[in-house]
Amino acid sequence: MSVSQDDRLKAEIDERVPDLVAMRRDLHEHPETAFEEVRTSAIVAQRLRALGFAVQTGIAQTGVVGLLQGSGGAEGDVKTLAIRADMDALPIHELTAVDYRSQIDGKMHACGHDGHTSIALTVADILSKRRAELKGNVKFIFQPAEESIGGAEPMVQQGAMQGVDNIIGLHLISNQPVGRVGVRAGSVFASADKLKFVVHGKGGHGGMPQTAVDPIVIAAYIITALQVLVSRESSPFSPAVVTIGMINAGTASNIIPEYVEMHGTMRAFTATQRAYLERRIQEIAGGVALAMGGSCEVEVFDGCPPCVNDPVMTELVYQAAATTVGEQAVDTGEDILTTGADDMSYFLNTVPGCYFIVGAQNQEKEAIYPHHHPRFNIDEDALPIAVEVLTRAALDYLK
Ligand SMILES: [Zn+2]
Ligand SMILES: [Zn+2]
Repeated sequence: MSVSQDDRLKAEIDERVPDLVAMRRDLHEHPETAFEEVRTSAIVAQRLRALGFAVQTGIAQTGVVGLLQGSGGAEGDVKTLAIRADMDALPIHELTAVDYRSQIDGKMHACGHDGHTSIALTVADILSKRRAELKGNVKFIFQPAEESIGGAEPMVQQGAMQGVDNIIGLHLISNQPVGRVGVRAGSVFASADKLKFVVHGKGGHGGMPQTAVDPIVIAAYIITALQVLVSRESSPFSPAVVTIGMINAGTASNIIPEYVEMHGTMRAFTATQRAYLERRIQEIAGGVALAMGGSCEVEVFDGCPPCVNDPVMTELVYQAAATTVGEQAVDTGEDILTTGADDMSYFLNTVPGCYFIVGAQNQEKEAIYPHHHPRFNIDEDALPIAVEVLTRAALDYLK
């Protein structure tokens, strides 16, 4: 890409920054949670239609897909790159003091998805004006319900990825400074599975334990035994997490209860490690309970696979990021890994792609709080950076 073209793209982005920021703030004021993104998806669909895209709505309830057809030929003959954004907010009451804070009690864009949606719409606008340069198509995918329930999987099932060869997307991140971009091949976001254990014993009098099977003692051994999955059975080079976050049992100090219920989460970075943990959690919990005269039912559910980046697509994004922020501001190390999960993985499991991160932290603007925190915010200077990386990657991919 020549210098004059570079300057032209920067200018095209600059002139859209006021709209980009206004759009993000409007979405921020009107957060909508999983599968209720009615207002948000209407704005998305209306903007995509205004650009002349073929638009599909109601995919996975509130998901929207817009197809920008380049000059290179009909869909099917040429390559199609998908750009994915998520639209949902969280059930959190916002505590920031910004004048565009959430107008809806108990709901907040505390993960930056308002930014993702505005970024993708801005990229759509820029690329629509450069249609003649695109020897292929760009499919914009706006998914609902990234947080907890998962909108990506039903969108894939309902055909959102039809005709797509590759996909890219990004997450704004408040623990990396604005101006930095993180791009890395391989696993970047962990898998996340919920765990539910019901430990059955035999209830009885707290003073006469010999007549009972104490499920609380069994549960304590299970919790301890599960720790070996990470400390002894996982490679030090293969990160994993098993956390029990909730435990409920009993009604009085002198009663041995009938059962204990525990809930937890399990994280892994590869499909193999994830399958291994799932199997061993069942074996350990079941085995320990059996050895102590009880039993344990284990459920592993609501799982989201790890996000695994394709090396070729990662190189494409890396080059786009290096051109945008300079090579020294692109991170490719382990710092950018997270044991957070993202259902972008369902798209990445369908076609090779790259999910990257864009730093949005800034002390001076109080954009320092972690994601899902009631004071979470992003430095909006991250928005045009993200737009530029996505646009450059798309232009390069379809040149
Ligand atoms: Zn989140
Ligand atoms: Zn998120």
